[in-house]
Amino acid sequence: MRQKIVAGNWKMNNTLNEGLKLTTEIVNMVADEVRGDVKVILAPPFVLMPQVKNLIKNVDKIYLSAQNCNENVSGAFTGEVSASMISSIGATHVIIGHSERREYFKETNAQLAKKVDLALANNLTPIFCCGESLEIRESGNYETFICNQIKESLFHLSADEFSKVVIAYEPIWAIGTGKTASSQQAQEVHAALRKYVAGQYGDDIAESLSILYGGSCKPDNAKELFACPDVDGGLIGGASLKSRDFTDIVKSF
Ligand code: PEP
Repeated sequence: MRQKIVAGNWKMNNTLNEGLKLTTEIVNMVADEVRGDVKVILAPPFVLMPQVKNLIKNVDKIYLSAQNCNENVSGAFTGEVSASMISSIGATHVIIGHSERREYFKETNAQLAKKVDLALANNLTPIFCCGESLEIRESGNYETFICNQIKESLFHLSADEFSKVVIAYEPIWAIGTGKTASSQQAQEVHAALRKYVAGQYGDDIAESLSILYGGSCKPDNAKELFACPDVDGGLIGGASLKSRDFTDIVKSF
C-alpha cells in the first residue's frame, strides 16, 4: 500500500496569529474527521515552523515540512535556511523544486539535486516537485521534460535513498490559476512517471513511491483526482489556507 499524503503549502502567507489559528483549526478537524492512514503535512513559512510544530507535536497524523532548504551545509548565505536547521526543530519533510522557486529564484535541476542530498542526509523526506509550463504542455513534449527533471535531480540517488522521496507533479499552468488538470491528464503523467522510475529503480520501488498532484486542487475536484490509480494525494496551495477546505481535501480519499 502506498502512503496517502495531503500536504498544505502555505507559501508566503499567514502572520503568526493567523498561522496558529489555522493550525489549531486543522488539528481539531483532522483529529475528529480524518482516517488514520492519511499523512497530513503542513508547510508554513520558516518563521512559523517552531510554533506550528508545538501545536501538532501530539497529533500523530500531522507532520511538519519546510517549503525550501539551501543547497549548502552551512555558512555565509545570508537569509537562507539549511536542512539541518529544519530537521533540528522537528520537521520531517521539505518541499524541493517548487515551480515558484524554479521560476523566481532560477533554481536548476543540478542545484535541486544538492538540496535533495542534504534533505536526506538530515533525515528529511524531500517532496520533490516537477511539472511543465503551458508552452511545454502545448508542444506535446511534457512527459520527456518532466522525466528529465526527475532524472537530473533524483537519479543519482541509491535505491535506498530514492525510496524515501515523495514526488509532486504540479503542472505550472494549473498552479494558482483555478485551472486544474483533468483526472485523465494527472493520471497519464503520474503513470508515466512511475514507469520511468521503475526503469531506473525497479517495480517495487516505483510501486511504493507516493506521487502527489498539485495545481488548483480543491474540495470539489480532489475526490476525482485522488481516485486515479497513480495519484496518491495532493500538494495544496490556495486551498490549504482555509481549514475547512484543506480538511475536506484530506477527507477526499
Ligand atoms: C502549489 O503551489 O503547490 C499549488 C498546488 O498551488 P494551488 O493549489 O494554489 O494551485
